[in-house]
Amino acid sequence: MSLFENTIRQMRQAAALIKLNPHIEDHLSYPERILEVNIPVRMDSGSIKIFRGFRVQHNNARGPYKGGIRFHPQVDMEEVKALAAWMTIKCAVVNIPLGGAKGGVVVDHTTLSTNELEKLTRGYTRAIAPFIGPEKDIPAPDVYTNPQIMAWIADEYSVLQGYNKLGVVTGKPLAVGGSIGRDQATSQGGVYVLLEALKNRQQHPQQTRVVIQGFGNAGANVALLLAKEGFKVIGVSDSKGGLFCENGLKPETAISCKLEKGEVGECFVAGIESGESCKKVTNEELLELECDVLVLSALENQITKNNAAKIKAKIILELANGPTTPEADTILKEKNVIILPDILANAGGVTVSYFELVQNEMNYYWSAEEVQERLRKIMIDAWHHVDDLAKKYNCTYREAAFIAALKRLEETMQLRGW
Ligand code: NAD
Repeated sequence: MSLFENTIRQMRQAAALIKLNPHIEDHLSYPERILEVNIPVRMDSGSIKIFRGFRVQHNNARGPYKGGIRFHPQVDMEEVKALAAWMTIKCAVVNIPLGGAKGGVVVDHTTLSTNELEKLTRGYTRAIAPFIGPEKDIPAPDVYTNPQIMAWIADEYSVLQGYNKLGVVTGKPLAVGGSIGRDQATSQGGVYVLLEALKNRQQHPQQTRVVIQGFGNAGANVALLLAKEGFKVIGVSDSKGGLFCENGLKPETAISCKLEKGEVGECFVAGIESGESCKKVTNEELLELECDVLVLSALENQITKNNAAKIKAKIILELANGPTTPEADTILKEKNVIILPDILANAGGVTVSYFELVQNEMNYYWSAEEVQERLRKIMIDAWHHVDDLAKKYNCTYREAAFIAALKRLEETMQLRGW
């Protein structure tokens, strides 16, 4: 089953619980627009290489399309369709006035020079330019894209318009109209949700051992934020492997060490008490470590029917999009593992992206405290709404989050006559 089919299956399960209007369900089962582009880039060697790119606009009933751009060698249309649909749902879960989209370029960014990466980004921007803009569709960073890439997109689009239109993209550097707090927003939003969920269980951060899969923007930031809240981070990993420190580890040391050594699994120095209590683990072993909270912040399809039964965490915080397959969901439900689902847990990123768009359009910028407080309120309100729905429908948090979104989408789409 493709990732998009998984997404639609998740949506249909929730739709059945609330008897969603069938034509709304049908509408949401397909993207509204699909764009496939070819991007020629003159490489440093002088030869021309053609790259493939996608942009999928899933639904814009509640506001302009919004969603990140992924640069990855294995990205494909089915994946981008799934990610776009999740964006529609996610924006509705946290009740911000945006729709859902996603983009992707098939590329291994590590094989490109900075010059080639810039040309590819500008080429992709030109290819999708007629379909994006602050009122139409606003891209953002995702896996292996970053603020510099967003700055190139903002610049290229502004050049095409003939005037500055920085709100065409979010996740930009501060010096190019970025918002304070965007870099940590996804992780911060997830931490707010986790803290509220733990209150339900009367569990304190100090007694909570956390394992984190993925050590990029979402994973490294959540490690820092959780350690600051008093959680004990005992395991982290990146694509090359993981590090397990029985007595806890220092995220800041792991971050600087990863920069130096290139892989976090080699960062034995990060152990809080003694580096000797740390050992290297494989990515598979990391997921199966004994812990209270497992944070998934790498890629989709990480917990599947093959490893779900071996998961020992009591709570899973999904910062990645789609890290748990529907089959794994069923197994984890039977094991009473609580899942704080992606469409709620990682919505802090799009929320501060929304703030960035608002600030760009006003050309007036907020302080860190203003951003933080607005994000906190949105995430905590969304959590309580989802928690209430989970109790009302006696369902999982994933189903409840889908219900929250589908009800809002249904109301808007019906009022608009869709
Ligand atoms: P990133 O590129 O900064 O980091 C990805 C990390 O995952 C890297 O450390 C990489 O080494 C690691 N990784 C890849 N495969 C792995 C594997 N098999 N095992 C362990 N680690 C692995 O990307 P990011 O922005 O942190 O995004 C991570 C996830 O979070 C994605 O699913 C993304 O869609 C989602 N997300 C990110 C944001 C955001 O604001 N950055 C917002 C919402 C959702």
